[in-house]
This record gives sequence, C-alpha cells and structure tokens, in this order.
Amino acid sequence: MAELSSIDIVGGGPGGLTAAILAARAFPAARITVHEAAPRGVTWGFGVVFSDRALDFLKADDPETHDLIAPRMERWQNMVLNHPDGAVTLDGIGFAAIGRLELLTILAERAEALGVALHFGAEVDPATLTGDLIIGADGLNSRCRSAANAPSLTHMSNRFAWFGTPRPFYALTQTFLRHPKGALNAHHYRYAPDMSTFIVELEEDAFQAHGFAEMGEEESAATCAELFSEALEGAPLLTNRSIWRQFPKLWCETWATGTMALLGDAVHTAHFSIGSGTRLAMEDAIALIAAVSGASSLEAGLAAYQQSRPPVARKIVTGANTSAEWYESFSRHMEQPPLDFAMSYVTRSGRVPPEKLRALSPAFMAQYEAAQ
Ligand SMILES: Cc1cc2nc3c(=O)[nH]c(=O)nc-3n(C[C@H](O)[C@H](O)[C@H](O)COP(=O)(O)OP(=O)(O)OC[C@H]3O[C@@H](n4cnc5c(N)ncnc54)[C@H](O)[C@@H]3O)c2cc1C
Repeated sequence: MAELSSIDIVGGGPGGLTAAILAARAFPAARITVHEAAPRGVTWGFGVVFSDRALDFLKADDPETHDLIAPRMERWQNMVLNHPDGAVTLDGIGFAAIGRLELLTILAERAEALGVALHFGAEVDPATLTGDLIIGADGLNSRCRSAANAPSLTHMSNRFAWFGTPRPFYALTQTFLRHPKGALNAHHYRYAPDMSTFIVELEEDAFQAHGFAEMGEEESAATCAELFSEALEGAPLLTNRSIWRQFPKLWCETWATGTMALLGDAVHTAHFSIGSGTRLAMEDAIALIAAVSGASSLEAGLAAYQQSRPPVARKIVTGANTSAEWYESFSRHMEQPPLDFAMSYVTRSGRVPPEKLRALSPAFMAQYEAAQ
C-alpha cells in the first residue's frame, strides 16, 4: 500500500468529502484536511437526484455512510412529462433525491467522526499545500486544474436557473410550457417531505424575449413562479444563488499530475437532466482512494486512477451531453403530440433502446404502441 502521512483535499463538496471519508478509512494514521471556501452549513442550489439505485455504488466501499444517507432520501418509481397537450407518465423511471446541504452535512459529520480536519470559510491556494497527496475536488472553477490537465470547456446555449419551492411534487416531473415569447421547461422533484427543486430552462431566444437577461434573482424567481403557477399551485420559488447560467461542458484528459489528483466537477461535468454529477464526483473519489490504497506507491496509485477511472466516467458524461443536446431544441420537440414527445424524450440519450423500454416502462410502451 502507498504510504501517505498527509492528504490535503481542496473542496468540501460531495466529491471532496467522500474522498476524505474513504481516505480516513484507508489511511487511518494520515493527517487528512479538507479545505472548503464556503462557511459551514452554506452551499448553493437545492436538492439533487440520483438514479433509482440511489447510493448503491457507495454501499460496498462505505456501508456506514450509505446507511446514514439512504433513509434521508425521497424516492419514487415513475416520472411525469407535462406536455402542453397532455401529461404522460413514464413508469419504471425512478429516482431518489436529497437536499444538497443535507447530503454535505451528513458527509461532513461522518468525516469528522473519522478524524478528518475540516477547515471551512477560507479559499486556499493549492500551491501552498504540502500534503503527500493533494486532491483537487474544487468544482468547476477549480484552481487545482491547470493546462497540464488538458481541459476543454464550452457551454450549452440554453439558460437555466436553479430554484427551490415549498411544494412537494409527487415524482420527478418535467413541465413544458408554450408561451408567445418562447417555450419554457421546468425540471422539478421533491427532495425532502416539504421541499422541491425547481430548475427553469429556456432556449436563448426565449430567454432574451422574456427579458430574463435584465432581471435579478428575485425578479426572475417571481416571474417564473407566475409563469409556472399552475404546476406550482401558487407556491413561490425560492432562491439560493439562483443566477441564470449556461451549462458548462468540461472534460479533462489528464486527471493526475505529480502529487495532485482531480475529481468531480473539477475534471468533468454532467448535465443535470440525467442527475449524475454528484454521483460521478463520489464515484471518482471511491476510484481514487481504491487506486492509491491498492498500489505499492503513490505514483503507481495515481497512474492506476488515471488509467481506470476516466473511461468509465466518459460514458456517463457522453450520455449527459447527448441528453443536454435534446434540451437545446426542446421547443421543436414540443411540436410533437404528447406520446411521440415522450418517446423522443425517453430515448434522447440513446441509452434506452425501444425493446428495453418495453421491459422498463410496460404501461407507457403499451399506451405508445396502441396509439401508433
Ligand atoms: C442546476 C444544477 C442541478 C444539478 N442537479 C444535480 C442532480 O440532480 N444530481 C446530481 O447528481 N448532480 C446534479 N448537479 C451536479 C452537481 O451539483 C455537481 O456535479 C457536484 O456538485 C460535483 O461535486 P464536486 O464535489 O465535484 O464539486 P462541488 O460540489 O462544486 O464542490 C466543490 C467545492 O469546492 C469548494 N472550493 C472551490 N475552490 C476552492 C478553494 N480554492 N479552496 C477551498 N474550497 C474551494 C467550493 O466552495 C465547493 O464547495 C447539478 C448541477 C447544477 C448546476
């Protein structure tokens, strides 16, 4: 096993905290420090979804952490597409969700219980860190990432803003609205018994026509709440750094250089429509600590991480990019009748061939095939 006496982790998001927990188990004698820029108990966004297998990926490596999180998740079996001409239920497409802050709080408490030092409220300069291993888990705007990681960064053209609402939706729902100024979409699902995520997305022309470019956070929230008042049943939209953004498409070829290993959003992004960014960051952390703890030296461990993890992550990232492409022209897809629209939606990433759908979503497929 590689010998490590100190590990510095930049970033206390889901990836950094998972790395800290697993490193504390694998290297109990090492000094492990997580440096997080935000104060304790503060983060951006609302809830996040995982596939219906939720945190199964964590079970084998850290059953205790899995068991702390799993009971706090909201779960459901179906997905609903609210097309303007009628709703379609996609049976068998389940998800699980949890508040981002709640997830981070559980992970932080578990890390501290294992002896990890958490330094909140100060951004660190990675160049000042002295750990034998430095883990760059510092998200999209990573300072740990450098030209040596060979990054490529572009942005999708759609605009989105991540709101919350005190209205618990039954399942993950996509509501599509026609509007004279341009179509709107909302991805919404409950992540706690009394709270839901509500992400509003528009194509660029619609974003400009609705005037969102000139609105601040609160005005945007109030305007979106008005536009989606039927789906929201009059509930308000809440903000938490809910600025309009274009989704970044990041991929790095090199994940480990010298004593630095990158993971999560620092090396790749996955569009929120497939709900995988958090899981990917946590899985990267699992792969990194397994590679380093299973190797004879740090150098060999980082080489093993570089060789094994990017190809696995690449498949998910490619699926997420294909899914994001579908949203780039969702107003055109909305011209189809509801069942054809739903079929186009559910096969958008190319990962679910029709025959698989018959097994996965028998009720939807029966309805779709009867209408052909
Ligand atoms: C609208 C939206 C919805 C999403 N929905 C989902 C979803 O439903 N499901 C899902 O799985 N994923 C979702 N994601 C993606 C998910 O949020 C990210 O993929 C995930 O947070 C990545 O985790 P991370 O640990 O790599 O980075 P982050 O969560 O970004 O954490 C990085 C941390 O590093 C800290 N940091 C940065 N620089 C420094 C520094 N120099 N010093 C100290 N600290 C620093 C930051 O403060 C931050 O806390 C969504 C993303 C968006 C934008």
